[in-house]
Amino acid sequence: MALILKGSQVAAAMSEELSRRAASLAAEDVRPTLAILRVGERADDIAYENAAVKRCLAVGVDVIQHHLPQNAPREKLLTEIDAAGKDSGIHGLLLLRPLADTDAEDAARAALSPEKDIDGMTAASLCGVFTGSSTAFPPCTAEACVTLLDHYGIPLAGRRVTVIGRSLVVGRPLSMLLLARDATVTVCHSKTADLAEACRSADIVVSAAGRARLLDRSFFRAGQVVVDVGMSTDADGSLCGDVCFDEVEPIVHAITPVPGGIGAMTTAVLARHVIIAAEIAKSRKYEGTFR
Ligand code: NAD
Repeated sequence: MALILKGSQVAAAMSEELSRRAASLAAEDVRPTLAILRVGERADDIAYENAAVKRCLAVGVDVIQHHLPQNAPREKLLTEIDAAGKDSGIHGLLLLRPLADTDAEDAARAALSPEKDIDGMTAASLCGVFTGSSTAFPPCTAEACVTLLDHYGIPLAGRRVTVIGRSLVVGRPLSMLLLARDATVTVCHSKTADLAEACRSADIVVSAAGRARLLDRSFFRAGQVVVDVGMSTDADGSLCGDVCFDEVEPIVHAITPVPGGIGAMTTAVLARHVIIAAEIAKSRKYEGTFR
């Protein structure tokens, strides 16, 4: 029987601390506030938005939701981002990605001010993650993986970690966060020649391929830690991850469930980023009054 890495429980514990921090900001008249910008009506965007709103409100983070139709002109998207950047009452902006229009997404990335980029989408944030700057917010999901492993006391220094996926949202920034923690990281992707061997030779496998039940028991061995970031829908419409949980759980040392694993952690990290952004904005304002 593997140790089940319950992201939902860790998120609940994080929420208690976040509530205290949001309350102390509120006591000084600062309401940490997240703006969410959604383009179109994709079901997974709506599901993530609902989960993010629920988590934020539960810990004392206010949320302002902006919804644009799929065919909204790019200028409208950029106007919303610009307005959030100028509004001192908004501490972070979450743009639900990916956008169908990749050029519009690039333009949005360039328009967002880095201090309000609480999901690591701007070049400045990603540069900070890659250079190891402590002031940049990494993408929430990437940070959620490291936070979960830390919570369970799973050491990273010197461990071989195989990351499946090289997206800018998960795989690449996560690889950098793991490298910064002295792990030995192998990044795999759709053209990797022998994915099974890359998985079996690792101490920790983090999968973010987004392919339902890609990894069966032949990819794993005893003693490993498995983090499943994937969120897909299988043939009967249920949510599942990249890993065949039922087959793999009896073999490995520890594993995340889907749902109840990284997905639950991601919204807690998002709320944490907004609260940190509000704390930074407050201290800047405080410093400003004495300059
Ligand atoms: P993406 O499509 O941008 O990237 C997928 C990556 O997986 C690519 O780099 C690709 O090369 C690699 N890949 C695909 N098939 C592969 C295969 N057969 N073998 C090896 N590598 C393969 O996706 P993404 O945005 O990085 O998201 C990945 C998954 O994580 C999705 O299921 C997504 O829904 C999920 N996700 C979950 C959360 C969360 O909060 N839990 C957040 C973000 C993404």
